[in-house]
Amino acid sequence: MTQTIGSEELGRMLRTAAAKVRQAVPTLSQLDSVIGDGDHGTTMDRAMGLIDKALDAAKGAAPKAVLNDVGWAVLGVDGGASGPLLGMFFLGMSEAVGEGAAVDAKGVAAMFEGGLKSLQQQTKAVVGDKTMMDALMPAVTALRGAADGGASVAAAMAKAAEAAEVGAASTKDLQARFGRARNLGERSKGYQDPGATSLSLLLRGMADALA
Ligand code: ADP
Ligand code: MG
Repeated sequence: MTQTIGSEELGRMLRTAAAKVRQAVPTLSQLDSVIGDGDHGTTMDRAMGLIDKALDAAKGAAPKAVLNDVGWAVLGVDGGASGPLLGMFFLGMSEAVGEGAAVDAKGVAAMFEGGLKSLQQQTKAVVGDKTMMDALMPAVTALRGAADGGASVAAAMAKAAEAAEVGAASTKDLQARFGRARNLGERSKGYQDPGATSLSLLLRGMADALA
């Protein structure tokens, strides 16, 4: 069981997440083409490439620095709104994580809470608005609950990934209240939100890396 993670595990989590998202690039663009402008797959593909590059460059750095570098890299992605939002998420994770080399389950929960907090400074979207928040918010709650209940990092991340998947699936029946899909009104119903989908893939990748 993984009781703490360090930069090596964090790097593995992010690389596995990036690979997971990359596999789904066509699906993500397809989802975005029905309720948005069709660029979510390419934006995420670029963002994942920037994550890998930042990880290569940050070799040997502590988790805080790794996440800071990843955040700034993703922030600079060329494309849709999701790039900057995701960048701010990683920067918030960096701000919240301790200075040390090892992070336990509660520290990982705090790290994700910091990411969410930073994202909430960029958008007022909450659960039910059909955005990435529908995947992220329940995932962070599940992660915190598992960590406080004494779960290992791996088990807590698995709970988070599960909750993100349920949240992403729930967006299918929702009407979008943020982003481009908002313009479709009622017609945005019936399709899963691309951003919630990619967020759930990121979390699944991170969890799989520790399983
Ligand atoms: P764009 O809409 O600029 O083309 P993307 O296609 O890359 O950006 O990403 C779309 C996703 O980003 C949406 O599915 C949604 O999850 C998320 N998103 C867009 N705008 C917002 C917002 N204001 N708040 C939260 N999430 C948003
Ligand atoms: Mg788009």
